Amino acid sequence: MSDPRRALPSVNALLISPALQSLFALATRSDVTAAIRSAVDNARLEPGNAPTGDSEWAAAVQDALASRRRRSLRRVLNATGVVLHTNVGRAPLPRAAIDAIREVAEGYCNLEYDVERGERGSRYTHCVSLIRELTGAEDALVVNNGAAALVLALNTFADGAEAIVSRGELVEIGGSFRVPDIMAKSGARLVEVGTTNRTHLDDYKRALSRGTGAIVKVHRSNFTVAGFVAEVEVRDLAPLAIEAAVPLLHDLGSGLLLPLDKYGLVGETILAQSVREGATVVTASGDKLLGGPQAGLAIGSADAIARMRRNPLTRALRVDKLTLTALEATLALYRDPETALREIPALAMLTAPVDAIRARAVLLRDQLSLAGVQMEVADTSASVGGGAFPSAAIPSAALAITGDAAALEAKLRDGDPPVIGRIDSGRLLLDLRSVPETDDQALAAAVIAALQ
Ligand SMILES: *Cc1c(COP(=O)(O)O)cnc(C)c1O
Repeated sequence: MSDPRRALPSVNALLISPALQSLFALATRSDVTAAIRSAVDNARLEPGNAPTGDSEWAAAVQDALASRRRRSLRRVLNATGVVLHTNVGRAPLPRAAIDAIREVAEGYCNLEYDVERGERGSRYTHCVSLIRELTGAEDALVVNNGAAALVLALNTFADGAEAIVSRGELVEIGGSFRVPDIMAKSGARLVEVGTTNRTHLDDYKRALSRGTGAIVKVHRSNFTVAGFVAEVEVRDLAPLAIEAAVPLLHDLGSGLLLPLDKYGLVGETILAQSVREGATVVTASGDKLLGGPQAGLAIGSADAIARMRRNPLTRALRVDKLTLTALEATLALYRDPETALREIPALAMLTAPVDAIRARAVLLRDQLSLAGVQMEVADTSASVGGGAFPSAAIPSAALAITGDAAALEAKLRDGDPPVIGRIDSGRLLLDLRSVPETDDQALAAAVIAALQ
């Protein structure tokens, strides 16, 4: 019959507890009261871990105060070896984009104002000429994210009509994003053609009817198929779409603007290629291989993009000024490919020579060792993430620590900033492929603070 909740002190009792009085020098009375309330709530939820005695309560309230002050969304160090990890925010922004955000956020801007004419302008004019220059597309529309761009394209061209898709491309991109569900929500009636492993041009041809609104091609971004497989490329679908007078929508996803073959990353289509091969509209994300902010790009023919821009749904999916300015600054770096590879963190991390990464690991190992934290340098295999180059194994190097890997992993996660590693064969690995070099000292400090 002993319910430990009965034993919890009241908020009022804690407020006058001598052990808690020093907290009033650190925070306002209402802040301390709220912290007491959350400490008591926590104790009620986890009676087994409830504080006992004044000093334990004082510590619990102090923790609650600290967590009230911590922002929910905060920086973490990504040592997972997955460069474009959706869980940790995908692409870190280039310096130029951060500077642009600061400038635009601090005051007013010409988001929807034409400064030259002194009249109302459109937010959808920003970024367009850069995207045209970099992709060869006639026009472009930027919306909130890649999924929004696809929904908008489908809704514009196939609402109440049929959208033809290969059975091999009815994929789940991640989380709650499944191509067939998204199509249904956008009002399109899905017409599946081909089989899971093989789809031919004839399959599309036979499915065309007067009710066809669009032919849709979806990039299989997070898996590969091998063996007895066949798919129809954009360049072969394009003539069919033209003959049938329906748009060919290509959901490319990754937003790659530069070929990365030289760096061993082969098999991902660049946006310009899809445009050149005849896709009417290509959709992609801003924060995957493009390396910019979360955004959705729809690029393609002037007519098609104009129709999308006129769709009332565009208003609901609209992009904000901070995103637009960050995207513009990121895109501008692509005017010189070498600059893009150097300044865009996602590209710099993906293309860094493994020797350079190993050299950083060696330096960090020695530095940690001097501070009493013993780690080894291990050869590892990193990955791209973010639905791109799904089978690429990028040679990398990590700091490795043996011991109770789960406990070490939790300690690092609990630090400030949290360090997110990965456990592999019983070792905790901190892969440096996904840590920008400029964060090496922050990583060392966080590891020392957590493990020393
Ligand atoms: C990632 C991806 C999406 C979704 O893009 P978000 O920017 O995450 O909304 C859609 N289609 C493909 C093929 C993708 O890879």
